[in-house]
Amino acid sequence: MRKPFVAGNWKMNTSRATAVTLAKAVAGECASVPAVDVAVCPPFPYLQAVADALAGGPVALGGQNAYFEKEGAFTGEVSPLMLKDIGCRYVILGHSERRHVMGEKDDLIARKVAACLDTGLQVILCVGELIEERRAGKTADVVKRQFLAGLEKVDASRMASVTIAYEPVWAIGTGETATPAQAQEVHKLIRGLASERFGAGVAQALRIQYGGSVKPENAAELMSQPDVDGALVGGAALKAASFVAIVKAAVSK
Ligand code: PEP
Repeated sequence: MRKPFVAGNWKMNTSRATAVTLAKAVAGECASVPAVDVAVCPPFPYLQAVADALAGGPVALGGQNAYFEKEGAFTGEVSPLMLKDIGCRYVILGHSERRHVMGEKDDLIARKVAACLDTGLQVILCVGELIEERRAGKTADVVKRQFLAGLEKVDASRMASVTIAYEPVWAIGTGETATPAQAQEVHKLIRGLASERFGAGVAQALRIQYGGSVKPENAAELMSQPDVDGALVGGAALKAASFVAIVKAAVSK
């Protein structure tokens, strides 16, 4: 049995004040939902304030990105050690906005994944195809490449600290969601890849979130699919009521 996992990616949104209010509201509501692992990933400048707001509660803290070095002359970057130091349990890596807006490539993402795992962070590795790749019938190829490349430096013993988020890029922030059948097809493919690469036990235990315009209205149906183990939520994570409704929809998994 895989415990459902729902994470909120706040992206470059909120102020210090609204971040703290949102975190407190989510934590208050999630105390009654122990069957689901829940995390929020605020912007870097608000991590400390949100860490304080979440302290001792049921909601974990995550970073939205990290560099692969521990420290040094890397202006503007944040290290895995810093995230750990400030109380993060999770880090999102390989998000499509990092890949397609910031130009991150698979080899960089692989180094980040390894460094974050080395530091004791749990990694949410995002994979997903562009609309033109889906139309060209390349979804499976793209997801396979991103999965294998992103986890190139990871062995089976570290996979308990990895969650995969399947996020079709055409569904992120667009209001367009993959159908439950489309999501299940790719999630099953990912579990199969995990089995080939790391063994059946790792594959069965691996949590695979769906991300891409998840809302309270579609969350339960998406998460009712056998290989959909939760959600990575962007826009709907910015309101406590909609995020908590998605968390509650994961209970019946
Ligand atoms: C995301 O940013 O990971 C995401 C899935 O965004 P949204 O829910 O807004 O599509």
